[in-house]
Amino acid sequence: MNPVSYVRAGSFEDAAGILSGDTTARMLGGGTNLIDLMRKGIEQPTRLVDISMVSSSIESSPAGGLMIGASARNSAVAAHPIVREHYPMLARAVLAGASAQVRNMATVGGNLMQRTRCLYFQDAAGSRCNKRAPGTGCDAIGGFNRYHAVLGASPECIASHPSDMCVAMAALDAVVHVAGSDGARTIALVDFHRLPGDRPDWETMLTPGEVIVAVELPAPTLARSAYRKVRDRASYAFALVSVAAGVTMREDRIDDVRIAFGGLAAKPWRAFRAEAALRGGPATPEAFVAAAAVELADAIPLPGNAFKINLATRTLAAVLAQLAGDDR
Ligand code: SF4
Repeated sequence: MNPVSYVRAGSFEDAAGILSGDTTARMLGGGTNLIDLMRKGIEQPTRLVDISMVSSSIESSPAGGLMIGASARNSAVAAHPIVREHYPMLARAVLAGASAQVRNMATVGGNLMQRTRCLYFQDAAGSRCNKRAPGTGCDAIGGFNRYHAVLGASPECIASHPSDMCVAMAALDAVVHVAGSDGARTIALVDFHRLPGDRPDWETMLTPGEVIVAVELPAPTLARSAYRKVRDRASYAFALVSVAAGVTMREDRIDDVRIAFGGLAAKPWRAFRAEAALRGGPATPEAFVAAAAVELADAIPLPGNAFKINLATRTLAAVLAQLAGDDR
């Protein structure tokens, strides 16, 4: 057992002071991921910094959107009437993740910070993993890689991001508010998570000591939206592929569209190229498949996850057909 101390931060300055001065300290929200990782020996902090002073409120923003405090529980987000009415893809994404018990504990900030469920990353005793131990190798590349990334991976790491919530937030153009010893700033959610490159252990754009304060959703603009998750079993499983999408039609043409994929990359994958291919065009099955092909053109599949190309294409086409048609 490793000794670990606990401290409750009273302010962002407190948290930033501790976290920036101690690389072995970790911030603690709901603990649903961090405590698991500590039990497995993957995370071995010497200090846990409880950041429950961060707001858990969910309220309308001055810009007509929604400000979600980073300590808000996932279950509170999914149940919030504004989320359900104006951001239904987010409510569905949250409810697609984990179990009711976990959603009651897990926080929005923690969801953004959760780490990959790559089996080799989780196996601290027996597997090589560049993310857990930089420079040691990656057993997933020649191993069991059914759940791994086909987009944006690197020779160092092919892990995929596990979140459902973040996929919907990426499609919604969410903005992450953070605070640290240098003050406050914002980061677009699509830029918050990093692709692995040669530093797979560096997963987000947070600097040492920075804490997530809130996630802001812009005012809703899309007429219809949906979240669809494809997984190996019906509940309590991570996505093989997921699609968050919103569409506004003008007569029989796509006036506006936003798309993000989950399960395909180390971050929620905003499909900007597919959106550009679809915008202003007809809402036909051929257009949906062509848009998916544009987005997936740079995919690098492995034997264990090559099926994701076809699965992502078909899932996107099905979601867009639902949103563009009358059968939503
Ligand atoms: Fe580690 Fe990434 Fe390889 Fe998984 S894919 S074993 S997380 S380096």
